Amino acid sequence: MDGGGEVAWRFGAAKPELAAASAQIKMRALVARVYGCLDKSDPRAVVPLASGDPTPFPCFRTSAAAEQAVTAAVASGKHNGYPSATGVAEACSAVATYLSRYLPYELSADDIVLTAGCNHGIEIMMAVLATPGSNVLLPRPGYPLYEARAALSGLEFRHYDLLPEKGWEVDVRGVEALADDNTVAVVIVNPNNPSGAVYSFQHLAEIAETARKLGIMVISDEIYEHFVFGSKPFVPMGVFGEIAPVVTLGGISKRWMVPGWKLGWIAMTDPKGVLREKKILDSIIIYRGISVDPAAIVQGAVPQIIANTDETFFTNVMKVMRETAEMCYQKLKATKGVTCHHKPEGSMFVMVKLDMSCFDGIDDDIDFCCKLAKEESVVISPGSGLCMENWLRITFAVDPLLLEDGLERVTSFCLRHASPIMN
Ligand SMILES: *Cc1c(COP(=O)(O)O)cnc(C)c1O
Repeated sequence: MDGGGEVAWRFGAAKPELAAASAQIKMRALVARVYGCLDKSDPRAVVPLASGDPTPFPCFRTSAAAEQAVTAAVASGKHNGYPSATGVAEACSAVATYLSRYLPYELSADDIVLTAGCNHGIEIMMAVLATPGSNVLLPRPGYPLYEARAALSGLEFRHYDLLPEKGWEVDVRGVEALADDNTVAVVIVNPNNPSGAVYSFQHLAEIAETARKLGIMVISDEIYEHFVFGSKPFVPMGVFGEIAPVVTLGGISKRWMVPGWKLGWIAMTDPKGVLREKKILDSIIIYRGISVDPAAIVQGAVPQIIANTDETFFTNVMKVMRETAEMCYQKLKATKGVTCHHKPEGSMFVMVKLDMSCFDGIDDDIDFCCKLAKEESVVISPGSGLCMENWLRITFAVDPLLLEDGLERVTSFCLRHASPIMN
């Protein structure tokens, strides 16, 4: 082997579009910075309230039926090959039947495209909608992968607001004001990450009517479908598919608590067939064909995962979530300097506003999170990562005892840094 001599490697130019798209996910860098502030000499456990991944906690282990379904899929030897380009037929059928339970019409397997997690569905939709000049309306606060994938696809995005004083509902008037002739879609997330809101039937109907008026589709991110524990039931946006075409994004990551299994779907909840007629489904299938497949093993397990997980699994998980959401809300409500506008009723997150005048020597939300990590070993996401300066995003999908400990540390931190003028 010749190791000698200098080679002028021709590759290595940075791709600026990639860095620019990735920078849309400001939250990642901010959370990494907060983790960097942790004091390693603190003997107490770190309380991770930043990212919503409940899988480390035994109380949030997936259903035994789901685990058995994957084991059986492996043992059958039937799922070792290349799956078909839109998904294993039985899995598409099972998802169609599952989603149809909650809709006033029946979906068929042809209405379903399986994806490698919901994030893959977001990637596909942002790519498919990116025709020259078009734009999409995204919520603020929201889920930053939408911005990143839109940016990478060259799709313009505009932010409409969620309204904290109205239970984080969509600012429907704002949506109308933002839209123009080039707007093709509005994205909603329901149940909502990061606010914990669950949208009512009436509110969803209003969104559908607005989309109809504007001639745009609704992309409804329902990765937290049925992940509700308040007074409001979950209503799928697809219920309003007659009014305006709805693309529903979902998957098993959150409800079954298996984000690592990477199984999601894009569903055409569009009984009038507008998305078909306008070739949106064709584009989705073409893009999917040159993208990736979810693992065949998990696809093979989907029918049994859905059929065999009984209601008690979901009821038990929602019972714990109701308890942790309530605890989070009550403890924060009793803490000076933080305001929680709305008790979370769904998803794994809540947004909390900081009143900076209540604190002494804390500059902003980022400084709050860094000092909190350093002094109390509690990690929280600064709202700045979601264009919400002086807000915090907190997950309560954490073991209840650990969460209680973490919230008490937040309270003592706030007391210790209280502004003397306010006391
Ligand atoms: C977690 C999450 C996703 C990603 O789902 P995966 O199936 O893990 O890819 C998408 N959208 C929202 C709003 C989420 O919270």
